[in-house]
Amino acid sequence: MEKLRTVRGVHDLLPDILHKQNLVINEGLKISEKYCYQQIETPIFEFAEVFTKPLGKTSDIVTKENYIFKDRSEDELMLRPEGTSGVVRAFLNAGLTQDIPKRYSYYGPMFRYERPQKGRLRQFKQFGIECIGINNSMADVEVISLGHAFLEKLNILDKINLKINTLGDSETRLKYRKALVDYLNDYKSQLSNESIKRLSENPLRILDSKNETDKKILINAPNIIDYLNEVSQERFEKVCSGLSALKIKYQIDKNLVRGLDYYCHTAFEFITSDLGSQGTVLAGGRYDGLAKMLGGVDTAGVGWAAGVDRLSLMINEEFANKPDLVLMAVSENLEPLLMPIMKKLVDKGLKVEILITGNMSKKFKRANKVDASYAIILGEEELSKNIIKLKNLIIGSERLITLDEAIKVIKNL
Ligand code: ATP
Ligand code: MG
Repeated sequence: MEKLRTVRGVHDLLPDILHKQNLVINEGLKISEKYCYQQIETPIFEFAEVFTKPLGKTSDIVTKENYIFKDRSEDELMLRPEGTSGVVRAFLNAGLTQDIPKRYSYYGPMFRYERPQKGRLRQFKQFGIECIGINNSMADVEVISLGHAFLEKLNILDKINLKINTLGDSETRLKYRKALVDYLNDYKSQLSNESIKRLSENPLRILDSKNETDKKILINAPNIIDYLNEVSQERFEKVCSGLSALKIKYQIDKNLVRGLDYYCHTAFEFITSDLGSQGTVLAGGRYDGLAKMLGGVDTAGVGWAAGVDRLSLMINEEFANKPDLVLMAVSENLEPLLMPIMKKLVDKGLKVEILITGNMSKKFKRANKVDASYAIILGEEELSKNIIKLKNLIIGSERLITLDEAIKVIKNL
């Protein structure tokens, strides 16, 4: 029979990779806890509307990348492509709109039907944070600062640049949109098919185009900064000076837009050149319109999501599963006595691998392979005297002592 495989773009996470991913997530949880963000978890699938309503009919996530399906009761469901919509929906459903601000962190798998490449998967993990209910742009500075601190904890800041931009408020975007469309219309025949489609549907997304000709045309496109009304301008300046006060270096990127419709004002991305073209490791922005799009009370929000898979490729962390000791018996008939000894060792806080297959030479080979420092060996004679043999595998010495004494030696007491 043919061997079964995983679905394209979906991977098993073997212990060494998962170890790195957990490390990334744990650092994220730890640092966001210090900023008073509390962990939240929402379902992996939701009514499709939770994503289609706010993400808009023109976003890639909704048009091309979604995993949408009907369940047995004909409900239209979607595997979540991102975390923010679900978190805000949960906040609204819990009736918390009067109980603001709320600061949440989350992590878990997301699903997008994308073309799989290194750092681009169909099931991937995000760690993210959302700051809900603060309109003041100091919250934007707070979340960027938290993202920066997270990458600092992972020790990878030196490989990462922060890019920011503003999308302004809706008045600004309307004015800018018109200027952008006017400009791009002159180049319509040269634009990629994708961008021509977006010209009428969602022109701002063209700024995000990866097409080389599009990119060239965009170099001289109007800059949104020149179209900001006073409110939007002030907000952006406050964010920039907030970052400067934190000594966080950033570049303003006039073509940085978030892929989703619900963003306004601040948009930012932390990018590395270490991962080829999949360089964005953490991205976010302000999404004041989202709660209303979900049918709730108008509530401000700002947050980010980090790609755990991409970050875990960047951290240098050796995975070691080294036990404190290995435990074995000289003959098979003594093996049933090993489990109670193992229990006692584990109760004392030791990490033990029990060796129950192969002859003694195989067992010592295994001990060597797992890099154990000690072996506890149970033999007939030792059993009758209520002792065990403790072997120091590093220097090769052996002692016959009680189990309690052995524990002390291994724990270096
Ligand atoms: P990209 O431009 O790389 O497609 P995006 O704008 O679609 O990214 P977001 O929706 O902002 O990404 O998601 C936040 C982060 O999640 C990204 O910066 C990235 O690190 C990670 N991410 C997004 N899509 C994938 C994917 N298909 N596989 C792995 N990680 C992903
Ligand atoms: Mg994408």
